[in-house]
Amino acid sequence: MTGKKLELYIHIPFCVRKCKYCDFLSAPAEEYIRDMYIRQLIEEISVQSQFYTDYVVSTIFFGGGTPSILKSVHVTNIMSAIYANWTVAANAEISLEANPGTLSQERLMNYRTAGINRLSIGLQSANNSELKVLGRIHTFEDFLESYETARNAGFDNINVDLISGVPGQTLTSWKNTVKRTAMLKPEHISAYSLIIEEGTEFHELYSSGEGKKLLPDEDTERDMYHETAGILSTYGYRRYEISNYAREGYECRHNTGYWTGEEYLGLGLGASSYTMGRRFHVDNDLNNYLHMDMHKDITPLYEDIQELTERDRISEFMILGLRMTKGVSAEEFAERFNRNMMEMFYYEFDKHVRSGLLEILPPYVRLTEKGLDLANVVMQDFV
Ligand code: SF4
Repeated sequence: MTGKKLELYIHIPFCVRKCKYCDFLSAPAEEYIRDMYIRQLIEEISVQSQFYTDYVVSTIFFGGGTPSILKSVHVTNIMSAIYANWTVAANAEISLEANPGTLSQERLMNYRTAGINRLSIGLQSANNSELKVLGRIHTFEDFLESYETARNAGFDNINVDLISGVPGQTLTSWKNTVKRTAMLKPEHISAYSLIIEEGTEFHELYSSGEGKKLLPDEDTERDMYHETAGILSTYGYRRYEISNYAREGYECRHNTGYWTGEEYLGLGLGASSYTMGRRFHVDNDLNNYLHMDMHKDITPLYEDIQELTERDRISEFMILGLRMTKGVSAEEFAERFNRNMMEMFYYEFDKHVRSGLLEILPPYVRLTEKGLDLANVVMQDFV
């Protein structure tokens, strides 16, 4: 199959309940709203496809929200609409985010039949009191049950999401979470640090002076980060991005596409896109989304359309590429921009090589171990 590569992101903005730290575009919703949303999403999938006839879809990612809240018929209908309207590569990676407490064997088997071949399960912590603090709907035992159900349903490519830096969390507790997860042998583990976002319940509780004291301090956070890499490497995982670890051959292709500047199209409420040199996103207003006549005119659906200059694209290539542990390649840079990366960033590379944050292993330039800790310091020089 030939054609330009395109990644599809499908946003499902529904959850059973809002977690206390979450600022994603997601909320609980009645079933009839979910039904209306899926109908509109299928319209959007069909209308948008006419603008991308020379593309081949290489990955599909159902994110949210909690996509696994959807009845299997919804996922089946979305996948049928994609296959009917788009050219999808035979080996496409098709992921779906799932939360414990929303999965059954029957639902998972139907997802597989619909074409989902990778599951990303949100565990966050193996400690039940931390899960309660986060406002998650499940316990660690619920997760274990879901994980086993997913394996029994035939999923042989599973990611588990974890969060460090939870209020009250100790280094011992975090290490226990990482070990217990690794012992289950998922193919991929994402371990992000908690960020206290404005507009969340956590922001009210933990952004003040007193509240901050309840969070692990900076040194503990740094220890957590180092311990994660250490523990996971003993279990056979390789860090390939600042917060992502995989067994050989199971790096997430969809997210790697984001970090390496592939084109992606976001479908569904608020979803972001980068295609044909432009960034844009779908309107965040659910009411507008549900009532728009997409066949008549789809353009009002899109907001913040931004044409990227070459300078913007170079900056993104550097900032996102440096997140990958293999770094950015001067050869790829030359191919994409017809320019010499080493000459263009001579000053920045020299400065950070001297401070021990970058290393040059031709054709790659990458963050050192110390640089991975201080990635923001390096990246701000490429903005
Ligand atoms: S399940 Fe995920 S998307 Fe939903 S509220 Fe919790 S963190 Fe947010």
